[in-house]
Amino acid sequence: MRRKILLYTDARLRKKSVKVARVDVATKKLIKDMVETMRTDFGVGLSAPQVGVFKRIIAYEYIKPAGSLETCDSIPLRVLINPEITHFSKTTEVGEEGCLSFPNLYGDVRRSKKIKVMALDANGKPIEFEAKGLEARVIQHEIDHLDGILFVDRLGKDKRLYTYK
Ligand code: ZN
Repeated sequence: MRRKILLYTDARLRKKSVKVARVDVATKKLIKDMVETMRTDFGVGLSAPQVGVFKRIIAYEYIKPAGSLETCDSIPLRVLINPEITHFSKTTEVGEEGCLSFPNLYGDVRRSKKIKVMALDANGKPIEFEAKGLEARVIQHEIDHLDGILFVDRLGKDKRLYTYK
């Protein structure tokens, strides 16, 4: 079931989300709905608070369009429960970000190029991995949502947002 996405005008996006105590039936249903919502709305990532559930869960997936000249590769679907970044690379890069809570708005954000992540997977199994490039960026963006931080908080000095429409 596609869930309604909270838009940036909604103050609830500033709430801090709580840890998931156990991966139960309701958690699995929420994850299924998050994936469906993300795909329906063509997002690369989605966090539970964006659908009004203030729990520490994120999902992301990037399917590179055929013939795309983008340098980043596709990223298979990944669901992270209680994710934590245990290492941020000192090397950072600026890249374009959008957000399903900010339809048609984009901005340039500086993020660590590489990170190390600890989390539970969709079945509650502990996992640990490294991510770089787009995947590292998406994880940092989505974990920010769990702490009530939005990408517009991290724009450069000019605070510029742009649109392609
Ligand atoms: Zn977002």
